[in-house]
Amino acid sequence: MIKGGIMRVKPMIIGTRNAREMLHIGVEILRDGGSALDAVEATVRAVEDNPLDFTVGYGGLPNLLGETELDASIMDGRTLRAGAVAAVKHFKNPISIARKVMEESPHVLLVGEGAELFAESMGFKRCDLRTDHNRKFYEAFVKDKIPELGDEFARWRNYLMEYIRNYRLREWYERLSMEHHGTVNVIAIDSRGDICTGVSTSGLFLKLPGRVGDSPIIGAGNYADNRVGGAACTGRGELTIRLSTARSIIAYMKAGMSVAEACMQAIRDVNALEETGGVSCLAMDNRGNTYAASNRRTPIYYYMDVDSEAPEERKGSLV
Ligand code: ASP
Repeated sequence: MIKGGIMRVKPMIIGTRNAREMLHIGVEILRDGGSALDAVEATVRAVEDNPLDFTVGYGGLPNLLGETELDASIMDGRTLRAGAVAAVKHFKNPISIARKVMEESPHVLLVGEGAELFAESMGFKRCDLRTDHNRKFYEAFVKDKIPELGDEFARWRNYLMEYIRNYRLREWYERLSMEHHGTVNVIAIDSRGDICTGVSTSGLFLKLPGRVGDSPIIGAGNYADNRVGGAACTGRGELTIRLSTARSIIAYMKAGMSVAEACMQAIRDVNALEETGGVSCLAMDNRGNTYAASNRRTPIYYYMDVDSEAPEERKGSLV
């Protein structure tokens, strides 16, 4: 068992830009002496519930066939236990299903139909993830791409199969991977020194059905270890899966780097791949130091602790 509560720091929570308005939910829980796990889950849930966030949860942008597929994971740095779900189409809070996977199942990752069956058995209610916005966005894309198709869905499907067979999809996808996607990352440390990291996304707009990003892959998009800290990623998940980016940040810190050095090194690793696609990372060490790095633009993230009145904007480094 990994020991918790070694470090005594002020309970705090950090999150990506899209968590800004929701961090107060997590900090309230920490103020009441609640756990980092509860604080992270509640904050991520609130982002998932927000239909105006097109990259996370309800209202998330759909895959090539027009269906939204959600990925999420949560990791408990005290026990190194983790739970994750991928390609969930009919439930709006994958972060909470992921927590149930961690706490109630013998597994770490459930996908697709199996994840949905499990969610139902845990009492989660099915729902439609489509909103006017994500439906219109998708339809505009389809009509613009092949106007002669009209609304004929079956032909669109055939067209896609042809497209995929011709490998043009890869080139197109790499271009698209620079935009229309995003993820929420939330990391908290509580009064016992326990660290938790949560990540949730609808992945890349127009991804191939069944595509799983880094968010539910423990070690790639998410990692937490009380003895060191927590780390999470956004951006082109294919790259962070190949590099085990979140776990690498923890390993770099364990080897003596500061949280800032570790984040910057992780982004240098991404740049060394010389691939298309931006990646950003967010991390906290177990003394409460925080940082972010990105190869897209100077990253902005938000911080609150139990004494904060409002989220504080913090900047990381463009690498
Ligand atoms: N990391 C997410 C994924 O690859 C997308 C993003 O953060 O923009 O699914």
